[in-house]
Amino acid sequence: MINGSKTLSLHYINRNTVKEPKRIAVLGSTGSIGTQTLDIISTYPELFKAQVLVAGRNAELLVEQCMTHRPALAIIADESRYAQVKGALQPYGIEVAAGSAAIAEAVKRSDVDTVLTATVGYSGLEPTIHAIKAGKDIALANKETLVVAGDLITRLLQDSESRVLPVDSEHSAIYQCLVGENPETVAKLIITASGGPFRTLSKERLASVSVEDALRHPNWAMGAKITIDSASMMNKAFEIIEARWLFGVPAEKIEAVVHPQSIVHSMVQFTDGAVKAQLGLPDMHVPIRYALGDATRLRASDRPMELADYCSLTFERPDMEKFPCLTFAYRALSEGGTTACVINAANEIAVAEFLKGRIGFMDIYPLIERTLQRVPYIAHPEYEDYVETNRIARIYAQETASQNKL
Ligand code: NDP
Repeated sequence: MINGSKTLSLHYINRNTVKEPKRIAVLGSTGSIGTQTLDIISTYPELFKAQVLVAGRNAELLVEQCMTHRPALAIIADESRYAQVKGALQPYGIEVAAGSAAIAEAVKRSDVDTVLTATVGYSGLEPTIHAIKAGKDIALANKETLVVAGDLITRLLQDSESRVLPVDSEHSAIYQCLVGENPETVAKLIITASGGPFRTLSKERLASVSVEDALRHPNWAMGAKITIDSASMMNKAFEIIEARWLFGVPAEKIEAVVHPQSIVHSMVQFTDGAVKAQLGLPDMHVPIRYALGDATRLRASDRPMELADYCSLTFERPDMEKFPCLTFAYRALSEGGTTACVINAANEIAVAEFLKGRIGFMDIYPLIERTLQRVPYIAHPEYEDYVETNRIARIYAQETASQNKL
């Protein structure tokens, strides 16, 4: 599927032929990826325009971003903050809406060319489906969309004009390694993992780590949820699933390798034994730029990487015993159906409970495992099945966490 895939077409577009700025709907504009996306939009006004901004709850920052970017539409997901945003933006002629139905409508607008999905978790799924049905290009940061419903998204893409360009740095790296290659010569996708803040801790020590410890990622500054997922290596499990759907490569040809320096962003091994890698500083501006720029190289003024500053780049096998969440990737891909949807839902509850200090770090894995045992499995789910499975899985996970049944 790598070649001729509807998910990714490895192509080159000459920017000189594009006359109007690409109009972008930024879902999750107030978050880590969203704010970096707006930096890029500001840097290249001749190429990009923020047409729609979508925030979750941060009304103040959304209003501030609207004053700078003057989008046609601002949406706040939390409806209780609608009046605040509306009051602030009305004098400037910016349309304001609230709630998930408004987000689903916004991605279909005729004045939107590309939808950048950078909300957290399951919330990315519904708008992405609407965007694909409307034929919009997707710059995909929200990996949970493909984790929950990769099969459905792949099927929808086959009947749509949409293309998906990865924003996740690992998948952007793999995409870049695949350009110009014959897909039949791909032997293995190798996804690098920093190993997170707990790579060197013993299993016993992991039981008592604090929220603050887990939020202290050694290399990347990211939102809270993905930072905890990185610490548990669930993020890497999600990335393996994401890679399976993006590149159409089976699970047995995708592996994770721990690379603590986060300089090699991922690799592809070919059947002749060659390995291609993409390197760079850990800076999300690079993959975001590449995705928004339709897989072209936009000139940037960032500090260039000096390879001599990195005299040692190391690689090691992940410790699945210490980080069992990684095993969920292979289980989800071998079982298929709604398994990954349950894993994602239970993980979202587990991370939220951990962040509130209600469960320990080592409770994340068993909480997901218990939830998997309780939620009925559906082998060939449609959209409604994912919605229902997500709903039930959250209830069960919440119950298990609240009753301290771990
Ligand atoms: P953040 O927590 O920093 O930001 C999340 C954004 O989503 C915020 O703008 C938030 O709004 C908004 N949001 C949350 N819930 C909803 C909702 N229900 N409806 C609409 N908007 C909502 O997350 P990140 O930017 O770190 O991550 C975003 C996605 O990108 C995740 O899927 C993550 O896995 C992925 N990703 C992130 C990377 C990174 O470096 N950060 C790297 C690769 C992938 P508000 O703050 O206003 O409440």
